[in-house]
Amino acid sequence: MYDYDVCVVGGGPSGVITAYSVAKAGYTCIILDKKPRGLIGDKNCGDALDSLYTDILHEKLGIEPPSVELGEARDLINKFTIATGTLENQLSAQTPGYLVNRLAYGQRLLKDAEKIGVEILPEVSVRNVLVENNHIIGVEYFDKEGNKNKIKSRITVDASGIIGIVRKAIPIMLKNDINYDFNDNHVIKTYREIIKLKSNKDHKYREEILLFYPPEIKPPGYIWIFSEGPKMLNIGIAWVKSDPYPIGKSMKKLFHDHLDKYFPTDSYEVIQKGGGNIPMRPNFDSLVYNGALLVGDAAGAVDPTSFEGHGPALDSGRMAGNAAISALEANSFSKEDLWQYNVDFMKYPGAMHMESFIASQMTRDVGVKNLEFLLNRKIITEEILRNMFQEKDSVISNSTLLKMFLRAFPRWPMMFKLRKYMVKIEKVEEIYKKYPMSPDKLEEWRKFRNQELKMNF
Ligand SMILES: Cc1cc2nc3c(=O)[nH]c(=O)nc-3n(C[C@H](O)[C@H](O)[C@H](O)COP(=O)(O)OP(=O)(O)OC[C@H]3O[C@@H](n4cnc5c(N)ncnc54)[C@H](O)[C@@H]3O)c2cc1C
Repeated sequence: MYDYDVCVVGGGPSGVITAYSVAKAGYTCIILDKKPRGLIGDKNCGDALDSLYTDILHEKLGIEPPSVELGEARDLINKFTIATGTLENQLSAQTPGYLVNRLAYGQRLLKDAEKIGVEILPEVSVRNVLVENNHIIGVEYFDKEGNKNKIKSRITVDASGIIGIVRKAIPIMLKNDINYDFNDNHVIKTYREIIKLKSNKDHKYREEILLFYPPEIKPPGYIWIFSEGPKMLNIGIAWVKSDPYPIGKSMKKLFHDHLDKYFPTDSYEVIQKGGGNIPMRPNFDSLVYNGALLVGDAAGAVDPTSFEGHGPALDSGRMAGNAAISALEANSFSKEDLWQYNVDFMKYPGAMHMESFIASQMTRDVGVKNLEFLLNRKIITEEILRNMFQEKDSVISNSTLLKMFLRAFPRWPMMFKLRKYMVKIEKVEEIYKKYPMSPDKLEEWRKFRNQELKMNF
């Protein structure tokens, strides 16, 4: 009756790793993607990938990290820096990782998956899900000639990115009363260019990723400068979709106003340009349905302050793969059978993304001028940055907090505002440790979480 054990919609990082995981365990799996085979994996992106996630893939699944020699990574990352709008005041922390070539790395992951039996069906557009007895049992898709077809699978995985085509098509009665839509407050809009410098001299950002916060952009929006090798840079701009444009300026115009300050137009050629949308909200409270799972951007699995989504997409694929394997072993595919994915995901990165979401709301509330003050006065220290981006821990100790208050004099009202958010951030880990072990307790937990954090998700 079923064509495959698992049908994955989307062959980006989250989809390919889900497929790899289940195929490695001996189950049949197909990836459907609307792109041509040779373009799957490519994406307009900042290209930064934290090695934390590639190390996990290597350790748990034996997948090799992106290789600079093979052109899968264009540069290594060693340093993460945040800076004020003029780049005058900077704060750095060590963050190992890669500036990946999304196409080359994505294609290699697809080949790795194919080698262990994953089938790939390119140039097909999934439009709907098949539902039987309140279970998702596959998808309906159109090929490039416009023919309508079906694939039946025991488990269907939505790895279609921010569009979330499977998630959207799932009937409302199967949605656990959760609002699964992204509104414009929960989407980051971006534009970026990869440029190649004409000068013989190397640029000064080697092995660095730099974020800076210009006064025209409401936080957590920023401009990024990422090194893609000695002569190449990936530079982009991002802000919350619902925020108004600075008067008289398109996103591209504002981007070029800033770029021109550091790299005049005639000093480089543009290798690639384009934009895209990134989810910016805490992850949905459940990522499973009867017979289906959400991974990567489709699950909202992006850090809401840094907008890092590539690593979380890879890791959500691995965790979803584990849950799918357990359900296939038990030959039972209800949301109860797939629930362990929620439990694993909420522990990490789910809780961390909620902390980061509160931090992003904090930056919006205090505003860019106060952020600049915090950086100029060194109230945000390298230690805090290291904790957040290296240790992935947003909780600030009392002694650090006291030092921050002293340095911030006389802007204590702003510091009290910050403290209010920090108190919430401190609660998150414990709240997410109590994430329920079964779906029947989800509503109760959601009420408890919303009350504790005084929010409504
Ligand atoms: C401009 C920009 C810069 C970014 N910079 C960074 C960064 O520096 N670091 C970082 O970690 N993250 C970054 N991100 C986020 C990161 O790119 C995503 O989080 C990540 O790609 C998510 O992977 P995914 O597999 O969930 O989805 P995607 O990579 O979006 O893949 C989705 C796949 O689904 C396919 N698909 C979609 N709809 C259908 C359909 N109906 N039928 C069949 N196939 C379909 C698509 O063709 C695509 O191949 C950036 C994003 C943008 C837009």
